[in-house]
Amino acid sequence: MPEHYQRWVTETLSYCNSCRRITRHAVSGGRLAHCLEHGPKVNAQGESKAQAKRREAREKAKQNPTLF
Ligand SMILES: [Zn+2]
Repeated sequence: MPEHYQRWVTETLSYCNSCRRITRHAVSGGRLAHCLEHGPKVNAQGESKAQAKRREAREKAKQNPTLF
């Protein structure tokens, strides 16, 4: 089936290679556009990868106070 959508369709479900699962995708001009679920790169806590890394480092430092 060709990827063609009605004009009123603004999002659809499609497989995302980045998410490696079926996710919501934007539909723009009747064409399948970007994935809506990994767009803002945040985890379940709403953190970006950099933020998560910083938090993990902070928690590690807390758990091993004698290390420093
Ligand atoms: Zn995605």
